[in-house]
Amino acid sequence: MPLPTLRLHGAKQCRARSKRSGKQCQNPAAYGMPVCRMHGARHPHTTLRGEAHPGYKHGHETLEAKAVRSSKLFELRRLEALMHVLGMTTSKKSPGRKPKFNRPTS
Ligand SMILES: [Zn+2]
Repeated sequence: MPLPTLRLHGAKQCRARSKRSGKQCQNPAAYGMPVCRMHGARHPHTTLRGEAHPGYKHGHETLEAKAVRSSKLFELRRLEALMHVLGMTTSKKSPGRKPKFNRPTS
């Protein structure tokens, strides 16, 4: 049973059909997809990524940009720790949580 509010706002209907009854799925299609979440809209090979995603704005927060930033922060933390070990600085260590370890991107 589809949600009545979605019908009123002209949401696209999922185009999948039932094997048993042959009727079309009553769920609304996922944004930018021909099918609903139950029929494959969230599979990794069907999700839109990067500039193709409808929520894409500037590319500063893409998965790739986040991975690069995280690996650079990790590298900076390692350099800072090395400076403290070698006695090159007497400043306080950087506050905050440590960045997640990711393989460095080249
Ligand atoms: Zn469906």
